[in-house]
This record gives sequence, structure tokens and C-alpha cells, in this order.
Amino acid sequence: MKTITHWIDGKASSRAPERTGDVFNPATGEVQAKVAFATPAIVDEAVESAWQASQTWRHSSIAKRTKILFAFRQLVDKHQAEMAKLLTLEHGKVTADAMGEVQRGLEVIEFACGIADLAKGEYSENVSTEVDTYSIRQPLGVVVGITPFNFPAMVPMWMYPIAIACGNTFVLKPSERDPSAANFTAQLLADAGLPPGVFNVVHGDKVAVDRLLEHPKVSAISFVGSTPIAQYIYETGTKHGKRVQALGGAKNHMVVLPDADMELAADAAVSAGYGSAGERCMAISMLVGVGDAADRLVPLIKERIAKLKIGDGLEAGSEMGPLVTGAHRDKVKGYIDAGVKEGATLVTDGRTLQVAGRPNGFFLGATLFDRVTPSMSIYKDEIFGPVLGVTRVATYDEAIALVNKNPYANGVAIFTNDGGAARKFQHEIEVGMVGINVPIPVPMAYYSFGGWKASLFGDLHIYGNDGVKFYTRTKAITQRWPDPRHRGVNLGFPTNR
Ligand code: NAD
Repeated sequence: MKTITHWIDGKASSRAPERTGDVFNPATGEVQAKVAFATPAIVDEAVESAWQASQTWRHSSIAKRTKILFAFRQLVDKHQAEMAKLLTLEHGKVTADAMGEVQRGLEVIEFACGIADLAKGEYSENVSTEVDTYSIRQPLGVVVGITPFNFPAMVPMWMYPIAIACGNTFVLKPSERDPSAANFTAQLLADAGLPPGVFNVVHGDKVAVDRLLEHPKVSAISFVGSTPIAQYIYETGTKHGKRVQALGGAKNHMVVLPDADMELAADAAVSAGYGSAGERCMAISMLVGVGDAADRLVPLIKERIAKLKIGDGLEAGSEMGPLVTGAHRDKVKGYIDAGVKEGATLVTDGRTLQVAGRPNGFFLGATLFDRVTPSMSIYKDEIFGPVLGVTRVATYDEAIALVNKNPYANGVAIFTNDGGAARKFQHEIEVGMVGINVPIPVPMAYYSFGGWKASLFGDLHIYGNDGVKFYTRTKAITQRWPDPRHRGVNLGFPTNR
């Protein structure tokens, strides 16, 4: 059976791994490969390779870095179908969704190609007589990306193109559940001409992550994953003196006002709730119906769910694939059981779904609950599966208060035809990314992505201008060139007058 191994210093590691994990095909339930789990010694090797490479990469010209990124962009574009197939085989998402993932990642590569303009410094002439001050942005050194299973190609692309463009070298620790996209990326970067050691991959679990968090030659860590781990990464990484941005989990609400176009809102709720089987950090998991909105919306959603085509992501026509592992499918199923026990109304039950020809796949049907209340576990927890809940409130102010009370604050949407109501929403809602009649408001590459509250630990969002800030540090330089008029000792604090 194939073993997916680490990528260090420009090539796949030939060392036999001490520990491995299973990589499943979620559609068949079969183990299709093993993935090597890095020991601390392997992590040290990868970081050393990145550190050595950083000693020359940080001095390389912007022109050289961007030329390689342009070539890489062409290769990802050319091989996107191949990359998407790897995603479907290990994650389970359907082909169209996997292609969309690669395309959204490409946007960040394209953004990073503009680094010449993005990482410019500032200059002030004559801050004192014949004295100038300017600032420059410099790379941090070795930076690390630790990424989740749900976007194995795109989430790393939120990080390494900008990090590398800024002159850093990179060590990626992808999810052990779908590790192949990381190695595919490493090969394409090598083919694009990236020098060995600038991009490395270590696979594994907590053992690898813990060594990365404490390694003295690691300067910064970008993390995307669940909230408890994000908090752990932030606290441990910062304790070891690293710069850390750690994006966490979500519970995204979609508020529907009675004046909304209900057909449009139902389409949006189904697309955003069940796309990628609900395994998106920007998935809508809770609908908040104001007034009679839920009465009109629930039958429309039910109708649409009945028509969804659920199957192997590689099969033409499949709209929703399986969940990533059997363990995760069982956890999500457990939430459906809990919702029934806690008294929510089960409108559509996905637990009994059978997919023809795939009896052992990790499938779960789209599930809809009505009359969910905030005390229920299906309201409180991030389920991360194809389970949509509907809760009802009497007034718009109650809807805003409900969203603002939630500890998560990644994404949110409002559906309405009232411009004033929408404006009030964007002003008052305490969430990092807001959609107005847009259910999944993932910002384009030239804005930054990130939530508030328990959905982000750290100060800067990911990609966009925040990405450039995260992967560089500024240095302010004050210069004066020798002139006889400057002679003379002055022990006072410089006032620059
Ligand atoms: P996860 O937190 O389990 O894993 C993320 C990464 O952390 C993986 O690389 C994993 O190997 C590592 N990890 C797991 N447990 C660890 C531990 N105890 N110590 C150290 N490292 C550990 O997340 P996941 O299940 O892979 O992904 C789903 C989660 O990611 C959801 O909560 C989702 O909302 C979140 N997510 C958030 C965003 C965002 O931008 N905010 C984007 C995508 C996914």
C-alpha cells in the first residue's frame, strides 16, 4: 500500500516512517494509503532545511520570487483537475466543489504575484533638517502552516504563496486525513523552479505540531482548524515567542426577515448548509427566521433536500459526497440523535440514507431540524456535517441579539429586500465576515479572511493585506548623511526639530 511521506529539501523523504496513519477513501470506506507521522527528529530536519534555505531566499529579488510564483500559478491552473481528484479521493467532496476549492486558492497565488506592490515600505523626507525616515518590510524567516482537513489545497494556499513571496521559507503540516494535496503542491512548486528547502511538508499529528510550536528556528505560525486546538496553538506558540494567527471553528447563522425572497433564501440555505456535506467553516448551520419567515421557509427547504443527489464525489451528477471519516460521520449522527432527544422537530432525517453501490462509504443524508432552541447541543456546538437547524424569533432585534450572544463569530448572512435593515445588520452584527443576500461571504484574495471572538486567536486575519503584514516585520530607518553642519554633541533626547 502506498505511503505518503514528508517533503523535505526539495524531495520526498525516503526514510521508513516509525508511525503511520490510515488515509480513507470516504466514498468506499476503504483504507487507500498510509501517511507517515513525523517524529520530532523529522520536524527538526524540515525546519533546518527551511532555515538553511531562508539564508539565501530572503536575499532573492522580488523579480525572482514572483517569476516562480507566476510559473506555479500556471502549473496549478493546468493541473487543477488532477488536484481536485486527489481532494475528492481523500476528503470526499464532489468534483465541482473540489475544482472550486482549487480556483479560490489560485486567487491567493495571483494576489501574491503582486507582492512588489503589496510589500512596499514608506518614506518621509526631512523629518528633521536633512534627516529622512523610512520603513521596510522584511521576512520573518521560517514560518509554519498547520491546516485542517476540510480544504486540503485551498487553506494552505491562503498561507504559503504570500509567505514565500515575502521572502520567508515554509513548513506545512497538513491534516493527516487528506495529506496528498500537500505533496502534489510541493512537486508543482519544485517544477516551477522553487529552490529546495523553501517549501517543506511534514505529515503527522500532535507530536509533529508540538515540536513545530516550540522549535527555536520557527518564527511564526498560521493555524486553521477547530477552536480548542486554535486556542492551544495560540497559547503555546506565543509562549515560545512566535507570532501566531490561529483561526478556529464556527457556528454561522443566516437571518431571514419576513420581506426576503423566500425561494432565493431557500436555495441559499440548502447550498450553504449542505455544500461539501456541511464541512465548511463558512457553512450555514443555523437559520434564524424572524416573524413568520420560518413557516414559509421550512417547506421550501424540505422540498429542495428531497431532490439532492448524494453519492460518490467522482460520479457525475453527485451534489453532496460522504463525510471525511467514519468516526466523524458517527459523531454527526450522534448530534442528530441528541437533537431528537432534546425536543427539536426533525423535518428531514438523513440517518437512514443508503447510497447504491457504496454500502461502506461514510455517507449521511441532509438533515433538517425545526424549532431548535439555544439551549440544545445542536444549537450550541459546531456539528460540521449536513445538519441545518431552524430557530424562530419574533423580532429583528432578537435575531441580532441571538447572533451577537454566540461565542463563535466567523460568518453570518442576512436575507432581506430592505436596505435599511441590511445596513443596520452590517453595523450592529459582531461577526468577522458578513453576507447580505450572500450565504457564504468568503472574501476575495485582496480582502482578508477571518472571524472574531472564538473564531480567531491573534490580531491579523489571513491572506490579503493582513497576510502581507503577518509574514513581514517592519523596520524603521532614520538616516542622515555627513555634513559639517551636523557636528556637535547633544545629550538631549532627539526631538527631530
Ligand atoms: P482540527 O483542529 O482537528 O485539526 C487542525 C490541524 O490541527 C490538523 O493539522 C491536525 O493534525 C492538528 N491537530 C489536531 N489535534 C491536535 C492537537 N491535539 N494538538 C496539536 N495539533 C492538533 O480541525 P479539523 O477537524 O481538521 O478541521 C475542521 C475544523 O476546522 C472545524 O472546526 C472548522 O470550523 C475549522 N476551520 C476553520 C476555518 C477558519 O478559517 N476559521 C477554515 C477551515 C476549517
